[in-house]
Amino acid sequence: MAVQSVESSTTPSASGAFGPAVALSCRECGERFELGPIFACEACFGPLEVAYELPAGDPEGLRRRIETGPNSIWRYAPLLPVPADVAELPSLNPGFTQLVKADNLARELGVTGELHIKDDSGNPTHSFKDRVVAIAVQAARTFGFTTLSCSSTGNLAGAVGAAAARAGFRSCVFIPHDLEAGKVVMAAVYGGELVGIEGNYDDVNRFCSELIGDPAGEGWGFVNVNLRPYYGEGSKTLAYEICEQLGWRLPDQIVVPIASGSQLTKIDKGLKELIAIGLVEDRPYKIFGAQAEGCSPVSAAFKAGHDVVRPQKPRTIAKSLAIGNPADGPYVLDIARRTGGAVEDVNDEQIVDAIKLLARTEGIFAETAGGVTVGVTKKLIEDGLLDPSLTTVVLNTGDGLKTLDAVAPTTGPSAIIRPTLDSFREAGLA
Ligand SMILES: *Cc1c(COP(=O)(O)O)cnc(C)c1O
Ligand SMILES: [Zn+2]
Repeated sequence: MAVQSVESSTTPSASGAFGPAVALSCRECGERFELGPIFACEACFGPLEVAYELPAGDPEGLRRRIETGPNSIWRYAPLLPVPADVAELPSLNPGFTQLVKADNLARELGVTGELHIKDDSGNPTHSFKDRVVAIAVQAARTFGFTTLSCSSTGNLAGAVGAAAARAGFRSCVFIPHDLEAGKVVMAAVYGGELVGIEGNYDDVNRFCSELIGDPAGEGWGFVNVNLRPYYGEGSKTLAYEICEQLGWRLPDQIVVPIASGSQLTKIDKGLKELIAIGLVEDRPYKIFGAQAEGCSPVSAAFKAGHDVVRPQKPRTIAKSLAIGNPADGPYVLDIARRTGGAVEDVNDEQIVDAIKLLARTEGIFAETAGGVTVGVTKKLIEDGLLDPSLTTVVLNTGDGLKTLDAVAPTTGPSAIIRPTLDSFREAGLA
């Protein structure tokens, strides 16, 4: 596993399978390792992340190459751990989702600057998870895994099932047994195996870690466990797209939901890369994290001024964010504090109100995670933590059709009438 072997001609990096990626590096001690299906540092057990030799010296050329690339995350292949011809390999081709200028919502929230919704419900399986899975699938292929797997709060299971079907892998995914019907059906319909576990996400994740170490899990690529360093890089594409869609400009403020915290940390990584390469002007930006009150370990630590995150037992309708022991929690705290952002939470009622607010103002039906980010944005403005005069991007990471139960009790027909004009008039709708 020593880093010098990275240069050997037989390694995946030398044969181009990982594009500009050159090694895995430990986020705690900096130790480097050869690109492989590993996720923890041998020296200190810290999490590993992908390290690059990024294209330097010709930002204009790179920008042109990106702009003429495919309308998917693969336009950013020169900045990802994937082969240069990745767009020709079987994939769901996620990404390049709409950045919606949300003027109506801005008016309601008292935002005088630009407000945008990055609407990732437009991905192939209707959540941002298609981005991370697409990168993990490339790594799984290179490492010779035959089964794709994951521990999931719902969206990831569907994304893995679909990506496996397209790319020709077997899949077997694990979820808490009590998820929303929309998530369970999405996870099962692609024909892979779906296992409900009697327990919460943290129990599911623990089980998967055991399975990886067992002969029963041989040949299995768990996209968010033993492929986690590659998986995480998929979230950088949100940062790239947002900047490109703003006309190669950094947003001033960005509001990101937190489950494990991976997405938030990689959005920060992506923004820093664009600055380093010279694709955007180097200006300060603030990253805000959003959680549900019923599962708010990172928000609680932020408010208490702690560096460590104390695990919680989740109880919230925002099930896609219900990770009580978030792996990247401490890194999220670092980023929120370093950039001058914050981490905030909203309760279930506020989540439902925010889902309806976004739907009513912008015609976007978000899942509960989107209710969390919009609700937190509103709260941050009210508390004076988010500046309403600047350019702000709020993420909607999933589709409301998967979490109908959240709004069904308070949403429905205005009236049920007989098919006559009299009946229509009686209902007071004329
Ligand atoms: C998984 C997920 C997230 C964030 O996940 P992280 O583990 O923090 O990267 C956000 N929104 C939705 C809808 C998700 O499914
Ligand atoms: Zn280490």
